[in-house]
Amino acid sequence: MKIFKDVLNEIKRYLYSKNIRIIMFLTIISPILGYNIYQPATNSTTASIYLGNPTLAGGLVGTFIFSIYALYEWNIEKKNNIKIITDTIVNPIYKSIIKIISIIVIVFITVSISALVFVPYTIYKLNAQFNLLEYTQSFYILMFPSIIIGILLIISLYQIYNRVDLSIISFLIMVFFCISPFTYNEYLLRWINPLIPVFSSNFGNIFYFKTALYSRILWICISIGLYILSLLSIRVYEKNFIGSIGRNIKKIMIPIFGIGCILLSIALYLNEPFIDNGEIAVMDNIVSSGGMAMSVSDDEEDKNNKNLILKYREFDVALDTKKGRINGVANYKIENKSNSSEELLFDISPGYKVEKILVNNSEIDFTDLNQAYDYGSRDIVVKLPEGNSYKIEIQYGGKIKIPFESRGMLLSGEITDEYIYIGGNRLYPKLAIEKVEDIPIKGNIRVSNKINLVSTGSIPKIIEEHSDGTNTWKVQTNGDKMTVFGGDYKYMELKDTSFPVRFYYGAKHESEFKNWDIESMLNEVMDYCTSLYGELPYTENHPLNLVMISAHFQGGGANENLSFMSEAFFTKEFLKDPLKGANALEVIAHEIIHQWWGVQRFMYDMENFDWSSEGITVYTSYRMMKDKYGEEYAKKNYIDIWKEEYVKTNNNFYLRNPGYMEKLPEMYLFNLQSQLISSNQYVKIPIQLLKAEKLLGGEDEMDRVLKKLFENGGVEMPPYITWQDFLDESGLVEEDLIIREEDLDV
Ligand SMILES: [Zn+2]
Repeated sequence: MKIFKDVLNEIKRYLYSKNIRIIMFLTIISPILGYNIYQPATNSTTASIYLGNPTLAGGLVGTFIFSIYALYEWNIEKKNNIKIITDTIVNPIYKSIIKIISIIVIVFITVSISALVFVPYTIYKLNAQFNLLEYTQSFYILMFPSIIIGILLIISLYQIYNRVDLSIISFLIMVFFCISPFTYNEYLLRWINPLIPVFSSNFGNIFYFKTALYSRILWICISIGLYILSLLSIRVYEKNFIGSIGRNIKKIMIPIFGIGCILLSIALYLNEPFIDNGEIAVMDNIVSSGGMAMSVSDDEEDKNNKNLILKYREFDVALDTKKGRINGVANYKIENKSNSSEELLFDISPGYKVEKILVNNSEIDFTDLNQAYDYGSRDIVVKLPEGNSYKIEIQYGGKIKIPFESRGMLLSGEITDEYIYIGGNRLYPKLAIEKVEDIPIKGNIRVSNKINLVSTGSIPKIIEEHSDGTNTWKVQTNGDKMTVFGGDYKYMELKDTSFPVRFYYGAKHESEFKNWDIESMLNEVMDYCTSLYGELPYTENHPLNLVMISAHFQGGGANENLSFMSEAFFTKEFLKDPLKGANALEVIAHEIIHQWWGVQRFMYDMENFDWSSEGITVYTSYRMMKDKYGEEYAKKNYIDIWKEEYVKTNNNFYLRNPGYMEKLPEMYLFNLQSQLISSNQYVKIPIQLLKAEKLLGGEDEMDRVLKKLFENGGVEMPPYITWQDFLDESGLVEEDLIIREEDLDV
């Protein structure tokens, strides 16, 4: 075919040019800038450092130089005043198409060479964590499309303006918009710098590649649509913009294809599938935030139907790791104290759809309110018939969506071939009813046999192996929230602990962990807390699980017998460097300490919302680091930072002028509230505890108080330990612990 021959000739012509060889060379080596100059993905994992950031840097740099080069190429005939002559030989529209296809092929060759050049070094650096598919995806999803979108955009602009200067200015505006704070959280709008918060080394990044790819397809539609439409304005017969369009529009296929692409991109934009755009309400009080995500709002409590009592719950779900989908059935037994018709409300993850609800085996209508009153939930209402007990079956399914709030970090549950993170109403519907006793959560989870599960509660067990390459696992907890992680997990049992402790980690880390003596590090934290406060009530079948999770969850948390932390804290870079090592140990320790303060004992006070499990956890990690690294280190890295943070928060304009707060938009107010609460919990309480320690006469006396609280729990409002409980046990009064100016001297 003629077009192939012409494209081939054009490519040959390009390759003879010295300029393009320089452009290609620069693009090929540009990923090098990702090692230390351009680092949009958090630099906390080996994969971020040696794969994520380099390909993102390659995309950015390649886009700039190739776009400018393309502009130069398109302008060359006009500059040399030979356009009229060449236009009579070849149709200018046809010529533009040949040129654009050729340059895209050249970009493809360039990116491929770059991928080959970097492969040995990346393998060397990533070692067991190197994954060929992911490597290829990084180059062809993150790097390659930016460059071709850039070229298509700048050439479209040039064909419209027919001027170099205006094209460059408009192009730069599009680039700056993309890298400006406006698009910081919007993965969909970022065509030159796809949103990659961090790269996981151990648990895959399929979820990020999916979002990036969706955004790429959208932008390729936009840029091809624009390019095709701009073909209409290519100047012909020395006519102006309008005149040329008048001539070119006779080629009717051009506007049809162009408008088709634009319509397709609008459809893609409107049907964005990953983000849950549900609004959240500003809560009256948020009890805590941060690591122990634990929010209680009055609204939520009030939603409970007091006449309905939960008696039994179980779920049975299948995880389709290829599609990222869950399909499930949940069964409940409910008692009705009123005997009359009652309204049953439950919530489920926003990306899910309820297929069917059976009450006492007959199907019943339901209303999907589709509103979110909290992060990631959607309300469904059922009118229950008269009766005193019901057997309820709910069939549901769907994909997890990213809560609007955390879209900038693309943080959400995950169901992929390499990683599972799912819990709460992403696992089964949560009924807004009362519960008078501890009702266990029982479940069956069917998932690919390449995945090992770890969950809250008892150790998950495989109960059935299916011929289609999946296993069914049985999970169960007596607690109130089921969280499940899955991946290529292995575990080691810690020796020398006084109760069973398992450490779950990605199999890719196996050989490294043997060399680093990770066990003694974890043991150190366990020993420290055990000797200070006492043992935890864990058993052989219900051990404490320390879980290394994907870096996509930037930080850690604790829930029942799970204490989990991002893989980022277990990298060679972190653990070998004494300074960063202390940092990593601190985070790991924090999440383990929560087992004592936050899981076994929970601090809560209705009159003092600053009092939460975070304060004592932060204080305990400070004490541990002080023992390990010395007084000076602890002062510099803890006490001084608390004081600075405290002063900073209290200088906040809106806190000093509460009148202005009402004028703030809700979202901003919500952020401000969360910030303030978290600052008080993480910073103010530790300063007060430090003050108490001094008044009590030293650390030993403080330890005695805390140990007593741990052993006996709270008195005022069991099972919680209140602020008053703490004051009573230490023999102090509120007045003693008010933070005064002299307490804040750094
Ligand atoms: Zn915490």
